[in-house]
Amino acid sequence: MDSTHAKADMVRTPEAPTGGPGQDFLRNIVAEDLRSGKHDFIVTRFPPEPNGYLHIGHATSIVLNFGIAAETGGRCHLRFDDTNPETEDMIYVESAIDLIRWLGYDWGEHLYFASDYFERMYAFAEHLIREGKAYVDSLSEEEIREYRGTVTEPGRPSPYRDRTVEENLDLFRRMRDGEFPDGAHVLRARLDMSSPNMLLRDPILYRIRHAAHYRTGDRWCVYPMYDFAHPIEDAIESITHSFCTLEFENNRPLYDWVVDNIPRGGPVGIPENSRPRQYEFARRNFEYTITSKRKLLQLVREGKVSGWDDPRMPTLAGLRRRGFTPESIRNFCETIGVARTANRVDIGKLEFAIRDDLNTKAPRVLCVLDPLRVVLTNFPEGEVEHLDAPYFPHDVGREGSRKLPFSRVLYIDREDFREDPPKGYYRLSPGAEVRLRYAYIIRCDEVVHDESGRVVELRCSYDPQTRGGKAREGKTVKGTIQWVSAEHALPCEVRLYDRLFTIPDPDEAEGDFTDYLNPNSLVVVDRAMIEPSVRDDPPGSHYQFERLGYFCSDLHDSAPDHLVFNRTVTLRDTWAKARAEHERAAAAAETTPATTRPRRKEEKTREGKAKTAEKAPARTQPRAGSAEPARDPRLVERRKQYREDYGLSAEDAEILTRDGATAALFDEAIATGVDARAVANWIIHELPREAQGRAVAELPITGESLAELVELVETGTISSSGGREVLARLVHGEGSASAIVDELGLRQISDRGQLEPLVIAVLAEFPDKVEEYRAGKTGLMGFFIGQVMRRSGGRANPEVVREVVAEKTG
Ligand code: ATP
Ligand code: MG
Repeated sequence: MDSTHAKADMVRTPEAPTGGPGQDFLRNIVAEDLRSGKHDFIVTRFPPEPNGYLHIGHATSIVLNFGIAAETGGRCHLRFDDTNPETEDMIYVESAIDLIRWLGYDWGEHLYFASDYFERMYAFAEHLIREGKAYVDSLSEEEIREYRGTVTEPGRPSPYRDRTVEENLDLFRRMRDGEFPDGAHVLRARLDMSSPNMLLRDPILYRIRHAAHYRTGDRWCVYPMYDFAHPIEDAIESITHSFCTLEFENNRPLYDWVVDNIPRGGPVGIPENSRPRQYEFARRNFEYTITSKRKLLQLVREGKVSGWDDPRMPTLAGLRRRGFTPESIRNFCETIGVARTANRVDIGKLEFAIRDDLNTKAPRVLCVLDPLRVVLTNFPEGEVEHLDAPYFPHDVGREGSRKLPFSRVLYIDREDFREDPPKGYYRLSPGAEVRLRYAYIIRCDEVVHDESGRVVELRCSYDPQTRGGKAREGKTVKGTIQWVSAEHALPCEVRLYDRLFTIPDPDEAEGDFTDYLNPNSLVVVDRAMIEPSVRDDPPGSHYQFERLGYFCSDLHDSAPDHLVFNRTVTLRDTWAKARAEHERAAAAAETTPATTRPRRKEEKTREGKAKTAEKAPARTQPRAGSAEPARDPRLVERRKQYREDYGLSAEDAEILTRDGATAALFDEAIATGVDARAVANWIIHELPREAQGRAVAELPITGESLAELVELVETGTISSSGGREVLARLVHGEGSASAIVDELGLRQISDRGQLEPLVIAVLAEFPDKVEEYRAGKTGLMGFFIGQVMRRSGGRANPEVVREVVAEKTG
């Protein structure tokens, strides 16, 4: 499977979206790689770990990976990243396959399992040992952590670091053979115990786990770590672009190291020209819900929902059952696109997408949730009229109609009658008239109560002149309500679902996230009445219940003798007001001192993180600055200027103006004349990671030193990864950027005179490849650049190398 694999591999079924979504930064990278000839065939993958059910966050990644492959005529693999025996299960595999297909994507024959590569991964680990690049460490987990040092202190080498190759091989084989208990030894890469990137301080590659794996059973008791396994999986499959979420940004150098150091060619090596690259995008969070696996599981375990596919869950199984269509989910994901920075997506956009889709798809039917008996005193007893009613009364390009039975006894919704109507009430009340949809205008002549005074029946008369709901001369009737014929209607259960949480950010608010569960997220109406036309529709059918919302018959519980309908979404956004109120409250909280108001969780964790920063490497994405946009008028003004004067996106401008210190840092840096866009990127994307949760105001970095750093990167003097190393020092107040660059020896080699000999040596070493490249296999450019990079200790300027290679291969 190399990158020249037949283009016939389709990644999309016909009903999947057409028309390219707007360009985003990842698509720009892919387009540039195709344009420059770095790749001529794009291979992506969606790599779920089968340890839970897919949710709407995964959907964004599915749509991204399959979408990019489809748009470029490439292919996308479905790969289960199943290297962790303890939590994985076949049920998750099956569920994911089912749901990704349901979403409309197809991976053809490209279904892979990381566990199928265990043997090769093991061989690669032995290879690293033989090359002196990996060793068996026998420190305990606790000791390893201790030896690793902190962000401010370098680590110390393990006393086992210098074991001989023979000793390492012997121990590693015995680990595999099951001679040792869990935790007795690990295999580590021999990298750099004093690297500023903690993940490069001899990362663990393999650990012992005496646990049965759902696919490989007891065959293995050593399992590879993510950082070792994932790049290998990508490299074996010749993935070109490996998209992952931001928390893996710091892992990227390790990813590259693994790809560069595992064997190539031959029966077990990775394909010669496979050179996957990792790119990060922001994990998506959604308002009024949560996507953390652990928290979703908690809801299931505590019985807060009926299961993983409860229609209130943000899981794909839940959304499908709720009545969301694949088209609406794909459209939603494409609309929100991918972002570089974390933010919460307005779930209203998903609701908008489903309304938009169902508007043209869901036939309109009549359903009465709370039946109130209406007797038409002037309609002959025992007679039935059949009224023609279109399924799509508005012009939405769909046809079809059904006959609605109309008789003497009807039900209307109790909601649509008021004994004592307020002014301007257009529905039914004593003496007033209302139109019955597709039927007649009726007048309420008499109200019947039971002993307790409750209204139990309305005695009405109908106007035979108004058949089909026709208007009458001289008299207007404004209200139109739904109804069903008592004798013909079908009793049914209707489940009125609503958002699962009452606030947009339940997992960031004070207290437990379950405190914010919406008590009205499910209201069951068990004696609703629906028109008979739906009787034989299959479960999962979509409808609009006129005036009530979009509904879908329940995939699990609906049966001909017990119809069950789920409300997918209301007809209009009923949350806009609540949201506005929430925002007002948050704004008010911002101007109140922190001590006198309930604190947002983010504030607390920020303090906590400052203390535990050393223990928390790259897993979390702490963000300097508060989560809500600032209201300070000066900052609001700056935000506007950043957009207008520097062309920054609304999102970026907002992040830069969340607090005064961030804005000041930005202003100070750009005052030196360096590119504003580049400065913004460094502050938004790089600084939070190095800040480790500290607020910008607490960082000793100055605008001037930041500007200097940006300039060094922009001019190609140092690489961007070199820039990150410098930034890591700057946030600890260490000197000027250029002094750090010199100290770390980071200056890139951009001098052609220095690079040419390296290029010539590489071309001489791989004459076959040069031939292939000249014959049109332009994807090999990446290979040549990689080789030169390796020879230059990573310091060659790739752009200049590209030019020199192009020139020399003529
Ligand atoms: P875990 O934290 O247990 O690893 P995960 O949510 O990352 O859970 P995976 O099965 O590893 O789950 O995810 C598969 C892919 O989906 C990954 O590439 C991941 O980046 C992506 N993904 C998962 N959640 C989101 C999200 N909320 N937004 C965007 N992408 C996501
Ligand atoms: Mg993951």
